[in-house]
Amino acid sequence: MKTVKDYIRTIVDFPHEGIMFRDVTTLFADPRGMRLAIDQLLAPYVGQHIDKVVGLEARGFIIGGAIAHQLSIGFVPIRKKGKLPGAVISEDYKLEYGEAVVEVHDDAIQPGEKILVVDDLLATGGTAEAGTKLVERLGGEIVGCAFIIDLPELGGRKRLEDLGYDIHALCQFD
Ligand code: 5GP
Repeated sequence: MKTVKDYIRTIVDFPHEGIMFRDVTTLFADPRGMRLAIDQLLAPYVGQHIDKVVGLEARGFIIGGAIAHQLSIGFVPIRKKGKLPGAVISEDYKLEYGEAVVEVHDDAIQPGEKILVVDDLLATGGTAEAGTKLVERLGGEIVGCAFIIDLPELGGRKRLEDLGYDIHALCQFD
């Protein structure tokens, strides 16, 4: 039986030399792979009280939408700067080279709502941390952060666990 990891393709030297890009499009394109990933991502949360899934642009939208549908709850996108049409709040965070800004609609989460944050891959944890900050600034309570892939050498899991978040990841790559 194939595991989630077996469906993920590695592209060498993308987006630049020396990077091994873990490509989840091959997982998403396979009906068994997609079903397996979504079932495993939501398994720890079935029966828990969760009000909304928050997905990080862009691959977090694909899995976040499927998880929200499966749990019959709402979905909220966190997007890169300038993409959301309504009033937003923003968070800056550091990338390997430079900085990025992510945003969420300021009325997308109500105080006290229980939130599951999802993305395809956890590397340094900078993106996910910025996402959790946005959720908490709106008064949301993070139930957990779920990822398909964890790159443990880059320290994201430890960074998020040190902040008190519960991390769920389906597979790891060195
Ligand atoms: P972090 O902020 O944890 O350093 O990086 C995680 C973010 O970068 C995620 O939003 C993820 O989509 C993206 N990312 C970085 N490297 C890869 C990769 O090898 N594969 C995929 N699919 N996404 C990546």
